[in-house]
Amino acid sequence: MNIKKITTCALIASMTALMFSGCKKEEPVETVPTTEATVATTIETTAATTETSFVTYSAEEYRNAGVNELNSVPILMYHRVYGMKNSETEYTGGNVDKDGYNRTSEAFEADLRSYYEMGYRMMRLTDYVDGYIDVPFGYSPVILTFDDGIRDVVLEGWNADGTPIFDPTCAIGILEQIKAEYPDYNVTATFFVNSGLFGNGEEDDRKVMKWMVDNGYDIGNHTWDHVKLGDCTADEIEKQVGKMYQKLDEIIPGQYVNIVALPFGSPENVSSDNPQYSTIFSGTYDGFSYTTKASLLCAWTRSYSPFVREYNANAIRRIRGYDHNGTECDIEMNFRELNDGRRYISDGDPNTIVFPSSDNSSGDWLKTTYGHQVITYD
Ligand SMILES: [Zn+2]
Repeated sequence: MNIKKITTCALIASMTALMFSGCKKEEPVETVPTTEATVATTIETTAATTETSFVTYSAEEYRNAGVNELNSVPILMYHRVYGMKNSETEYTGGNVDKDGYNRTSEAFEADLRSYYEMGYRMMRLTDYVDGYIDVPFGYSPVILTFDDGIRDVVLEGWNADGTPIFDPTCAIGILEQIKAEYPDYNVTATFFVNSGLFGNGEEDDRKVMKWMVDNGYDIGNHTWDHVKLGDCTADEIEKQVGKMYQKLDEIIPGQYVNIVALPFGSPENVSSDNPQYSTIFSGTYDGFSYTTKASLLCAWTRSYSPFVREYNANAIRRIRGYDHNGTECDIEMNFRELNDGRRYISDGDPNTIVFPSSDNSSGDWLKTTYGHQVITYD
């Protein structure tokens, strides 16, 4: 990514941050229990799905753990990770550039340890989009995304057994180290690439991508040329999105995710006034037909639970992985707000949706159940 792209992206992000000053607080905040701890768990609705067995807890157990699956999920947006100490940059914290789109390896590694210690466990973005959130009881999901490809995966060579050797300071080098250290972290991430893939050369990148999808990572679509889709015609969008899918389909058939990270977060809204934007989600390029199940914005704040009214799969919000002394929607500010009663806390069962009944008291906050059992507690 060149500097111009970084600047434009930053501009959009800062404008967006202004529009949602203080990172807008739409979610219901966790409430203080008002009823007896012995109140039995109630099953509010029964979905018309095949019978699944699931463990339920007492209201007291849910309450003590703060279980709330209508609360927010942090989806981090990173770009390049450079093999640097924080002291080697002239910018705040672990920011490698002025706006913090790129991160030092020291800061990135510290981020991963900090999420773990705060009780977050990783999950796949594609599972989140499918409303399937599988983290242990009492823990919260965190989702990692990387845009642009370059320096995320720096190949240093191949072992005799055919496994890749990565630069230990690039994103995947650090992820692999953390994976070995924390077996219960469920280390995973989704990498959004352009036509240049990871920049290791086409032949090596093809082999690397096959290794990645076989080893717990996902690869998605960041458009062929990294263009602002909001400025494109329907034909141009079909080329930018369709050609990239076509390439992914050729390299890792059936193993990439049908999700687009929108370059520059554009368009911000898929409006019916602009019907060409529908070609992000369904279209045909050069005889290759594709569909997209979700698209991601540029980043400033936490994302909604996929079960609530405000959640929009076409405009998924992310947190920019940068430092600003705990202000301006940086990592610290976002996690401070999440940890202050706004974070999604799991009941440990991906097939149930559990939350305090007061959180949906208006009856219209829970919107989509994905066929899961809904359990409320007082
Ligand atoms: Zn990008």
